[in-house]
Amino acid sequence: MTKPVCSVSLDLDNQWSYMKTHGDRGWESFPSYLDLVVPRFLKILDDFGWKITVFIVGQDAALNKNREALKMIADAGHEIGNHSFNHEPWLHLYSKKEIEDEIGRAEEAIGGATEKRPLGFRGPGYSLSRDVLEILVERKYKYDASVLPTYIGPLARAYYFLNVKLSVDDKTQRKQLFGGFRDGLKPVKPYLWELSNQRLLEIPVTTMPVLKLPFHFSYLLYLSTFSVGLASIYFKTALALCRMAKVEPSLLLHPLDFLGGDDVPELAFFPAMKCPQSEKSKWIARALKTVSSSHAITSLGRHADLILKRSSLRVVRPTEPPEHAPEVKSDV
Ligand SMILES: [Zn+2]
Repeated sequence: MTKPVCSVSLDLDNQWSYMKTHGDRGWESFPSYLDLVVPRFLKILDDFGWKITVFIVGQDAALNKNREALKMIADAGHEIGNHSFNHEPWLHLYSKKEIEDEIGRAEEAIGGATEKRPLGFRGPGYSLSRDVLEILVERKYKYDASVLPTYIGPLARAYYFLNVKLSVDDKTQRKQLFGGFRDGLKPVKPYLWELSNQRLLEIPVTTMPVLKLPFHFSYLLYLSTFSVGLASIYFKTALALCRMAKVEPSLLLHPLDFLGGDDVPELAFFPAMKCPQSEKSKWIARALKTVSSSHAITSLGRHADLILKRSSLRVVRPTEPPEHAPEVKSDV
């Protein structure tokens, strides 16, 4: 029997972007861990024979100090995606003109560093608006992958902002970080956004069918800090539910999945960053092995090609609620 497809992506968020969102001083000099983490995750992906999608932040690609690391990713044969230029999770508050600049500038910088033109987009912190989708269509993108259909975004946001020193304005800007409760109503399976002139494929980051609980690797690592056994059962249950619901998963990695508190002490505020790197690496290798044994791993771009070849995709119309986030009319 052939294995079901599973796409994997990695959001290459850098040290400065976490510090910026968290309101920490010092991000303006763009501190970077790319030289450390890129060779580390490329080696692991190569050991498993995976070709995935890496979403790159334009600001990183624009800096000479990061170019070598970013070129290594493209040279290793991974798909390169656009993860915005400034990595501001309040992208949905931008005007259409600002979004166009943001996405275009990122494309240019990423192209300069990797010699690849991204055809997939993921908004920072899962932020998305109808204008973002319209601009992706205008710029001939193949897919968007900015949706995390879960009810627990507000909880994740509350956790993230524990002990931060942000002004009221800063908090208002970040009030949609990780999405709102209504994101849980969005479908888990890929669908088409109905836009002004055209449709655009959405490949959501997969959450557990029905329960809509996240199971991206950073979340699993956070669970593993309570119980390694529990995190492993949770992951296997999520994959089994996907099989039952005929969902081809699209899984998400982050650089911090490959870095320990001993690598980047500045990010100790992050869940699972109290773990040393050696323990995290062991857990991640086990999780990758689990999904490798049951699924055929591919990039989001290749997954998009396979999905678009099939008919019967659901069509969803983005609407504009007060906070300008796209919304769907009904549940799957
Ligand atoms: Zn990001």
